[in-house]
Amino acid sequence: MGAGRVGSMTESAPDGKIIQPTFMDLALAEAEAAAARGEVPIGAVIVDGAGAVIAAAGNRTIELRDPTAHAELLAIREACAKLGSERLTGCDIHVTLEPCPMCATAISFARIRRLYFAASDEKGGGVEHGPRIFAQPTCHHVPEIYGGIGERRAAEMLRGFFALRRN
Ligand SMILES: [Zn+2]
Repeated sequence: MGAGRVGSMTESAPDGKIIQPTFMDLALAEAEAAAARGEVPIGAVIVDGAGAVIAAAGNRTIELRDPTAHAELLAIREACAKLGSERLTGCDIHVTLEPCPMCATAISFARIRRLYFAASDEKGGGVEHGPRIFAQPTCHHVPEIYGGIGERRAAEMLRGFFALRRN
């Protein structure tokens, strides 16, 4: 578990230009949009087994006055509504930051197949840090986990956001 890096769904040209946005790029765009709304810049995208994006969300805790309105939870709710199911079996989630304990638990409850996340979160993460939700005997579904996907951009975005806030 942890720092595994798997191939993304799209190719990069030799000059480093992205030919087609990856799912993590879409999640990062959601994070950017969240930042523009004054929210913590975290984004999540859910992809079904056929590779179609079925939900995309960024944090909306301030806007919705809802401390649970994290990107992952909003995306899970949207995907479940779209599929008409409380389970997202065969679906993958791409998140710009290591999910917190609440979202990690929701990912398990939703039976999500794979979790891809960008930056790790020593302070608030619940996957590789803190309660390590998926390693607990009370966790009954563990997704495949791939961390460090597009990590630099996600970490820079968060650093920039919190630097602005402190000023
Ligand atoms: Zn969360």
